[in-house]
Amino acid sequence: MNNRELIEKLKTEGILEREEFKCLLGEMTSEDKELLYSCAREIREKHYGKDVYLRGLIEFTNYCRNDCFYCGIRKSNLAADRYRLTKEEILDCTDKGYELGFRTFVLQGGEDMFYSDEDVCDLVSSIKMQHPDCAVTLSIGERSRESYQKYYDAGADRYLLRHETADPVHYARLHPSELSVENRKKCLYDLKEIGYQVGAGIMIGSPYQTDDNVVDDLIFMKELEPHMIGLGPFIPHKDTPFKDEKAGTLEDTLRLLAIVRIMFPHVLLPATTALGTIDPRGREKGILAGANVVMPNLSPKSVRGKYLLYDGKICTGDEAAECRSCMERRMESIGYKVVVSRGDYR
Ligand code: SF4
Repeated sequence: MNNRELIEKLKTEGILEREEFKCLLGEMTSEDKELLYSCAREIREKHYGKDVYLRGLIEFTNYCRNDCFYCGIRKSNLAADRYRLTKEEILDCTDKGYELGFRTFVLQGGEDMFYSDEDVCDLVSSIKMQHPDCAVTLSIGERSRESYQKYYDAGADRYLLRHETADPVHYARLHPSELSVENRKKCLYDLKEIGYQVGAGIMIGSPYQTDDNVVDDLIFMKELEPHMIGLGPFIPHKDTPFKDEKAGTLEDTLRLLAIVRIMFPHVLLPATTALGTIDPRGREKGILAGANVVMPNLSPKSVRGKYLLYDGKICTGDEAAECRSCMERRMESIGYKVVVSRGDYR
C-alpha cells in the first residue's frame, strides 16, 4: 500500500498493522506529508471547528521524589532551584486566570509528597468552589487508586499522566529501576475507571526510542482510548544523564500529531510548549497538524524560570496576560480562535 492508501485506511479503520504504521513513520514525500496534515485538520475541524481550547498551567511545585533520567527537576539535580506555591498563591493564579478567560486549570508538579491527599483535595475543592464553571486537571504523577478517588470526589475532572513509552525495555532505559511501565499503565486504567478524563502521551525522539516503540505506544493508546494525548519533542536538560542526547524533531512531532488526530478524531491534543521551544512557530504548526489545545502558563512570574524539565523553555519571563494575548494572536494568524470554554472531550 502507498502512503495515500495508508492514510485512507487509518481514517476509516482507526488502526494499521505494525509494518503499515512504520511506513507512515518513515520516508515521505512533501505531498504525502501535506495530505496527512490536511486529513488531520479536516477531522479536527469536523469535531471542533476552528476552536482552540486554553488550559491555564500552574506549576505549583518543582520538588520530586523521582529521578527520571530525562527530567530537569529529578531529585538528583542539585542545581535545581526548588519552590512550592502556597494555597493562596495557587488560588491567586486561578483568580487571575479566570479573569483572562481560562476555564480549565492544570495543577502540575513533581511527585511531591509534601502536599498530602487532604491538601490536594482542599486545593481542588477550593478552586471548584470559587470557579464552579471551570474544570480542574491534575498532573501530579503516580498515586494510589485511593488517592485518585479522593481527588475525584473533591471535584477533579481530568488527570494527565503521560505513559512515556509502552515498552518495558525502553521504559527501563529512561527511568530508574523503582519505576515501572506496568504501574504507570495501572494508574491510567485506575483513573479511567474512576471517571476522570484521562491523558496519556510520550516524548517524540526520546533517547533509544525506535519506530517499533512508537507503534507500541499507538497500539497501547488505542486500547486505553484516552481523552487527551500529550505529544512533545524530547529536549535534553543540561543537568541530566541525557544532556548530550539529540532533541526530537519538529517534523517527527507534527507527523505523530497528525497520525494521532486521524486515529482519535475526538481527542484533546495540545500543541505543547516544548514544540514552541524547538521552533518559533511550533505551536501554530502543531494546530495545523491536528492539535486543538494550547497550555499557556499561569504560574507566578517569580517561579516560571524554575520549572525547567528541559533546556530553553519559552515564555518563562512573561506575565499570564501577555501569554494569553500572545496565544490569541498566534492562533488568529493561522485562522483559528482561542475560545472561553472548559473545552471538554466531545
Ligand atoms: S518526569 Fe515527573 S516524576 Fe520524573 S523526575 Fe520529572 S517531575 Fe519527577
